[in-house]
Amino acid sequence: MTSQGSPFEYAPAPESRSIVDIKPSYGLFVDGAFVDGHGGSFKTISPATEEVLAEVAEADQADVDAAVRAARKAYDKVWSRMPGRERAKYLYRIARIIQERARELAVLESLDNGKPIKESRDVDIPTVAAHFFYYAGWADKLEHSGFGSTPLGVAGQVIPWNFPLLMLAWKIAPALACGNTVVLKPAETTPLTALLFAEICQQADLPPGVVNIVTGAGATGQALVAHPDVDKIAFTGSTEVGKAIARTVAGTSKRVTLELGGKAANIVFDDAPIDQAVEGIVDGIFFNQGHVCCAGSRLLVQESVYDELLERLKRRMSTLRMGDPLDKNTDIGAINSGEQLKRIRELSEVGDAEGAERWEVACDLPTQGFWFPPTIFTGVSQAHRIAREEIFGPVLSVLTFRTPAEAVEKANNTPYGLSAGVWTEKGSRILAMADRLRAGVVWANTFNKFDPTSPFGGFKESGYGREGGRQGLEGYLR
Ligand code: NDP
Repeated sequence: MTSQGSPFEYAPAPESRSIVDIKPSYGLFVDGAFVDGHGGSFKTISPATEEVLAEVAEADQADVDAAVRAARKAYDKVWSRMPGRERAKYLYRIARIIQERARELAVLESLDNGKPIKESRDVDIPTVAAHFFYYAGWADKLEHSGFGSTPLGVAGQVIPWNFPLLMLAWKIAPALACGNTVVLKPAETTPLTALLFAEICQQADLPPGVVNIVTGAGATGQALVAHPDVDKIAFTGSTEVGKAIARTVAGTSKRVTLELGGKAANIVFDDAPIDQAVEGIVDGIFFNQGHVCCAGSRLLVQESVYDELLERLKRRMSTLRMGDPLDKNTDIGAINSGEQLKRIRELSEVGDAEGAERWEVACDLPTQGFWFPPTIFTGVSQAHRIAREEIFGPVLSVLTFRTPAEAVEKANNTPYGLSAGVWTEKGSRILAMADRLRAGVVWANTFNKFDPTSPFGGFKESGYGREGGRQGLEGYLR
């Protein structure tokens, strides 16, 4: 649907879904083969239409045991003994197959997740392939990494639903490059691209047991995290579950990396190029429906440009096109689940009750599926819950500041510390701000840019450990 303020009408340009062959049901991927699970099954739906896409096996404790056994056997007998240059060949092969099947993966990701095809096609899948290429390059050079060259063993990996295949790549590519084997649990609402990735592992002739995929809900993740024969846990998701995982592994020899939430400040100074900043604000909070751990969900605007910036931002938001994720013109897709939509609605209502002023793009929402219009709250103070809690949706909280010192103080006034953005024409100010912002990533005059060569991770309650870059090897080596 177009927003009511949109000056243009576009004809629909849907990407065909015939390229993907979605099976009616999927088993678990254990020891190189798809097997039946013992914990029953669940349905995965398209959040845009609520259409059931497939029935997926739910892994119970016995299934997780079998997957960890397969990963251990593959680690002991094959993968840890294979020279790095040979492991690299498998990773390159996987990367190339991902490129060859990119359209299929993008369509499936958009169907299962609800994200616009132009994002899955142009951002998610190319970055997935880039991660496998990048870490393939490291596999035979580990002794130069500075972190040792001995793998840890079996890695248990639990990922969320916002970037299903990209989070899989962030986890699996460095683990395999370093010589570990993995058992990965995708999120309950987005299991399908992980299962297609399992087929890609078969196509690449990856030795059985090197990658195992166990689908299921939180209990499956819990069984994996608590499993005594897992050497390393890598998790991306909510701070609450991250804390539970840290408690579970405390006192064991397991290594852990956690990538948790964020409440990033996107800071616009009065000398910033305003139109560029508006694009960066839109990208920062509306990319992927705001389901982004490093989303720029708190806009800090210097008071002198507040009125002008807000007017231009609203005008730009009115041109965003929300609707069918498979339509190539769509900017904003569906909210990933009914549960997440409920959470976004609840926190937005808290914003109303706390006295902030809500403005949203006027548009007609479909009656089927899960939708929330791009929204901004102005008149937000630091004490408001919408300024402190991760909404994880297309909702921007706007605050103001007068001096750089005030901007730093407000930006750092959060239990999180994952990312931040700075918009100014002064290079010296960028460096000074980056120095004082307690955030793992600081973007300058841009936002939400990802590259496999660049480390990513947080301070404080945003977690610990880094993914990406040379630093991403540290969590998988001793
Ligand atoms: P969760 O943290 O619950 O989910 C992340 C992953 O952990 C999923 O695979 C989930 O399984 C699994 N999981 C859930 N409980 C456990 C457990 N006790 N032990 C091990 N694994 C577990 O995130 P939600 O999907 O519930 O989202 C809730 C909120 O978390 C969002 O509103 C958002 O604020 C934040 N979030 C942050 C993300 C980030 O990247 N920082 C990503 C996702 C969410 P399952 O999906 O089957 O429940």
